[in-house]
Amino acid sequence: MPINFGYSIAPTRAINYDNCDFSKLHELEQAVPSFKRCINCGACTATCSAQQFTSFNIRKIKTLCMDGQYESLGKELKKCMLCGKCTLVCPRGLALRPIIMTMRKIFVTK
Ligand code: SF4
Ligand code: SF4
Repeated sequence: MPINFGYSIAPTRAINYDNCDFSKLHELEQAVPSFKRCINCGACTATCSAQQFTSFNIRKIKTLCMDGQYESLGKELKKCMLCGKCTLVCPRGLALRPIIMTMRKIFVTK
């Protein structure tokens, strides 16, 4: 039970992994195995063109994906401009543009 200090920095958020559906995450990892190499450093997010103009955050998208929280992914993924800047800075050599395009195929339903 968290201590109530009378204020909070962010809304309380809890995920019950037993109720999560990870099928789409597994589909993504099979399509692009390099996805697992990400170390969440945030370099892609810092350099992202789309995040300068929108609320787009590629690291947050990856985290939501890993947590099986797919609801907002379809709408968010459409904000990527596919410019490829993130791929140039990734220390793990992830080709993020094809990963995002694969994510769109899996998570964007309409
Ligand atoms: S730059 Fe690469 S390793 Fe770092 S968070 Fe982005 S995808 Fe992951
Ligand atoms: S390809 Fe998408 S995620 Fe990568 S820097 Fe460009 S807008 Fe951002």
